[in-house]
Amino acid sequence: MLASSYFRVCFRFTTLVLATVSLTSFAQLQAEDHQAPVVSFEQCVVDLQQQALSAGVSQDTVTSVLGSAKYLAKILEYDRNQPEFVQTFPGYFSARVTPWRIDKGREMLAKHQEFLAQLTQQYGVPGHYLVAFWGLETNFGGIKGKMPIIDSLTTLACDPRRSTFFSKELIQALRLVERENLDVSDMVGSWAGAMGHTQFMPTAYLTYAKDGDGDGKIDLWNSELDALESAANFLQNLGWQAGYRWGREVSLPANFDYQLAGKSHPQTLSFWAKQGVTNTDGNTIGQGELLAALLIPAGYTGSAFLVYSNFDTILRWNNSEYYGIAVGHLADRIVGKPDLSKPLPELPKYTLLEMQAFQHKLNELGYEVGDADGILGPATRKGVRAFQAKQGLIADGYPSKETVDSAMSHAVTETAL
Ligand code: CA
Repeated sequence: MLASSYFRVCFRFTTLVLATVSLTSFAQLQAEDHQAPVVSFEQCVVDLQQQALSAGVSQDTVTSVLGSAKYLAKILEYDRNQPEFVQTFPGYFSARVTPWRIDKGREMLAKHQEFLAQLTQQYGVPGHYLVAFWGLETNFGGIKGKMPIIDSLTTLACDPRRSTFFSKELIQALRLVERENLDVSDMVGSWAGAMGHTQFMPTAYLTYAKDGDGDGKIDLWNSELDALESAANFLQNLGWQAGYRWGREVSLPANFDYQLAGKSHPQTLSFWAKQGVTNTDGNTIGQGELLAALLIPAGYTGSAFLVYSNFDTILRWNNSEYYGIAVGHLADRIVGKPDLSKPLPELPKYTLLEMQAFQHKLNELGYEVGDADGILGPATRKGVRAFQAKQGLIADGYPSKETVDSAMSHAVTETAL
């Protein structure tokens, strides 16, 4: 349900601090490799060694690094771990855009002011965004992860669930060992293989990492400047548009048609202005052909956002709308822009099972929300909006208690007939 209209760039699998599985990766977890044969870990390592040799990794590296890779059962426990409750935007946002991160972000922006200005000049990405990514990924380098990367990637490559993706990342990690002459014992990171200050997966590290401090090495673990320049280069390559912001909070008129919301149908600024969308201070959002999508991640009682092309770029780094809004808003706060204009609403807390049952009912009723995976993604929101509109509810795509109760009772009635 989630991956179809979303970017499939998946250089990074998950983030350490956020510990959330991105929407694309979650769908891939379910879809990929489900028929792969199960072989012993030892046999799998032999196969991986062959793959690595064929990919041009040296015999020495293959023998010494892969030959001593260990199976780590706890990595698969992390991989299988699913949250009990569905993540709400207020819960996600308030845990990430914190006063500490805003203050520390300002400190880091000041500390690296000159270097960040050079990066903005060269890559087009303003420094406050780079600092915001850094803060969300690892608390500015405070939590970079301690899992042995080669062991983690080998364990995941030998697990049928996402074997293809992790086998490729493992081989990239071996190339990285060779190119950067790394000591394998120093290669630590998240359980899913993300490394350093900005939590780059091996492919991103190999392809986009830069030597920011000019010491002749690229070290995302120990060099803040290497990490910041790497993030700038990565974002430029993911399509960052220089001179544009990520998006902004807006206000909606009382009679707003909430079915216009959603990432998949952007409209021009002029169109939104005509719908009565304004800045939160009531002033005009302006006119023009610039495309923006309207997001209401916490339903109509919460904040609304217009998001631009750079929001899509952020989602190519981590495919989660919540993440995109958190990065963008944190960046804004770091440069002194105001807090959200509305308080984060209190929302009902659903267990994954409750959300799955709700999705299942909507599918039964013909609203096509895709797989009942318990995730409140774009397809689910779209189906919820259609259901709400049919029922005469405010069609904001958010499963309010009223919406869920209505759907569940509706389904029972139909079953009874
Ligand atoms: Ca360096």
